Amino acid sequence: MASRKCKQSSDRFCYFYGQFIFSKKRRPIVDSLKTAYLHYFGFPVANQDKKWVPHVFCESCRIILLQWSSGEKVYLPFGSPMLWREPSNHENDCYFCVTKTLGYNKKK
Ligand SMILES: [Zn+2]
Ligand SMILES: [Zn+2]
Repeated sequence: MASRKCKQSSDRFCYFYGQFIFSKKRRPIVDSLKTAYLHYFGFPVANQDKKWVPHVFCESCRIILLQWSSGEKVYLPFGSPMLWREPSNHENDCYFCVTKTLGYNKKK
């Protein structure tokens, strides 16, 4: 029987690259960050009404984005961000269920 719900919350992961974020470092994606993201990448923060997309940035991505949008020459460590898509199941196709919260499961 396929489970329909995520074993863990998507909001434990950074919207940018999907890395696990400790609770103290989670930041909501407020409008100013959405605007900065749009300008940085050229496409918007998407699917924020969906459960299978994180609704948080990690503190370090947030800071880089804010510094960049204020004109500083800082850049995010990776070129392209995660493009989130709806999982077909939570057994092996769901990023959040498949990703181990502890230990690093590098998935590009
Ligand atoms: Zn899941
Ligand atoms: Zn991040």
